[in-house]
Amino acid sequence: NFNVQIEKDNHGLLDELTARINKIAQGLGSMETLRQNFVADVSHEIQSPLTSISGYAALLENEALTHAERMHYIQIIQVESKRLSKLSANLLKLSSLDIGVTSLSLTKFRLDKQLQNISILLEPQWSKKNLLLDAELDKVTIYADEELLSQVWINLMHNAIKFTTEGGTIHIVLTRDTEKISCTIADTGLGIAPEDQLHIFERFYKVDKSRDRTIGGNGLGLSMVRKIVELHGGKVTLESEIGKGSTFTISLPVTD
Ligand code: ADP
Repeated sequence: NFNVQIEKDNHGLLDELTARINKIAQGLGSMETLRQNFVADVSHEIQSPLTSISGYAALLENEALTHAERMHYIQIIQVESKRLSKLSANLLKLSSLDIGVTSLSLTKFRLDKQLQNISILLEPQWSKKNLLLDAELDKVTIYADEELLSQVWINLMHNAIKFTTEGGTIHIVLTRDTEKISCTIADTGLGIAPEDQLHIFERFYKVDKSRDRTIGGNGLGLSMVRKIVELHGGKVTLESEIGKGSTFTISLPVTD
């Protein structure tokens, strides 16, 4: 933390310079805070599954366990290990996107087909809910990174399915005008409170820490969505109401 103080001259030039240097110093300070928070968040995300894994592994040593108890503990260890490996995969992806190691690999492909394929891929997860893909999405081509964009739809659909109760509906609509292609993913699920909507795209942000732990999230999905969409020159918006549901809209520039 430092403040630059230079005697003022008559032309205000030094004032300007001083203000700029102080602003840069403040910026560096807040970057350092961000970095420290990030390390603390990562450590926490690693620590809690590891504690479960070692705890349940120790319990397994008890020879008097019933078969059901043993299977239950093994299952927890498997879930927590999967959480760790998902965390490391997501962090790697995010950091390579951040530092620009992963440059976009652009190809021309059918966005409507991509959405269809992902809906089919996720069918085991939404089989007790309704997933509607708008019928009008006909031959929408886009020039984009196919693999990264598929991550966007997977994360958004996965959340929409996860937070919608049985019998609810996930509605996906793809539209295009002269400037942009838009995809809305709307669900009739839990909804997100206004104060959470402000933070939901931040890394590691979880609305309900205990609930999200039991359903396996680490709060990175939406930050990846935003990062990938912004790398494509697009933007993400959210409208949501508690108890009614959420609608995420992704707009991407028309490329052809
Ligand atoms: P994760 O990777 O753990 O799924 P996300 O970054 O995707 O986390 O989401 C952050 C938080 O936003 C989640 O913890 C969840 O509580 C909330 N959230 C995301 N999508 C929805 C949705 N469609 N409905 C309700 N809550 C949602």
